[in-house]
Amino acid sequence: MSGLSCAYHLQNAGVEPVVFEKSGRIGGRMSTRVTENGYAFDHGAQFFRAKGDDFAKFVDVLKTQDRAKVWMAEAKGEQIDPSNPMMVAKGAMNELLSDVSHEMNIRFRTHVETVTEVSSGVEIRFQKSDAVEVFDQVVSTIPVQQVRQLMQGQDGLLHQCREVSLLPCWAGLFGFAEKIEIGFDTWRHVNSDIGWIARNSSKPDRDHHHDAWVVHASPEWSLENLERDKEDVAQDMLDMFGSAMSVSLPAAEYVGAHRWRYAQTPNPLGKPFVTNEKGTLYVGGDWCLGARVEAAFDSGTAIANAILSRS
Ligand SMILES: Cc1cc2nc3c(=O)[nH]c(=O)nc-3n(C[C@H](O)[C@H](O)[C@H](O)COP(=O)(O)OP(=O)(O)OC[C@H]3O[C@@H](n4cnc5c(N)ncnc54)[C@H](O)[C@@H]3O)c2cc1C
Repeated sequence: MSGLSCAYHLQNAGVEPVVFEKSGRIGGRMSTRVTENGYAFDHGAQFFRAKGDDFAKFVDVLKTQDRAKVWMAEAKGEQIDPSNPMMVAKGAMNELLSDVSHEMNIRFRTHVETVTEVSSGVEIRFQKSDAVEVFDQVVSTIPVQQVRQLMQGQDGLLHQCREVSLLPCWAGLFGFAEKIEIGFDTWRHVNSDIGWIARNSSKPDRDHHHDAWVVHASPEWSLENLERDKEDVAQDMLDMFGSAMSVSLPAAEYVGAHRWRYAQTPNPLGKPFVTNEKGTLYVGGDWCLGARVEAAFDSGTAIANAILSRS
């Protein structure tokens, strides 16, 4: 979200940004896993809300593209303000920015390894490639721990974000052939090993014949269990899910887990990005302003505005 929001604003202003993405698709932590037996799970961001005007306007654009929808979930453990409901992407979370990204120059499966200031600009090198590219300005919008590996030598920039980190989150993904009748679709837990439970299949324009559940472990539990095998964690989280709901679960048709090593920050930077004096390097991402999709959008927007104001 932060990278594409930056590129979107730059492109609208006539700049021609190039986006490098190490995976084969857009989305990042707004991802969806689709299984061979027909289940789909938004295993990162569950929903988003627009608190500020800029993101609200962008969500309006996404609505006109028929990409963003209200999720009318039966919520347990929290009151949902009907004037500010949970929004999700139509069909799958990683589809949210499909139209926005359509016209962009995105180079997929391109893992940036180093970003270095050189006399002619900023040089980028890539994993498994001898290619070297030089740009006038480079923007990084990856989790802050990964920036530290990418920009070694940028002590001034890195010093500014030294206090920020992202905590991990284990996501358990469970699919059932029959619908579990428990009277709610989302359940936010506090002070528990589980932080969040959601019936993914209750989101709009999803496959309602498959009962697909996403369970997020708390940051503490995730940290304690971070290096365990996915299969073992998935099984443990299935047991935790059944106990939390006080039901005996039917046999699951899909049991999986996803390890988010850098999920959400508890201590954001407090400003939308950091930059070097020359304005050639920008470092941003959700972790600058919060642990939310809107924070990612706002960081990318602010970087684009800063670049445009210098040109
Ligand atoms: C489990 C979980 C639950 C969440 N729930 C919510 C929620 O309900 N509501 C909400 O608002 N937010 C939620 N969030 C937070 C939300 O997902 C993030 O705030 C937002 O998606 C972050 O976007 P971003 O663009 O800053 O970072 P990312 O989505 O992490 O994007 C970074 C991108 O950079 C790519 N990349 C990384 N390193 C490199 C490299 N070296 N070279 C090239 N590409 C690279 C990655 O593949 C990725 O696509 C959740 C996050 C997680 C993990």
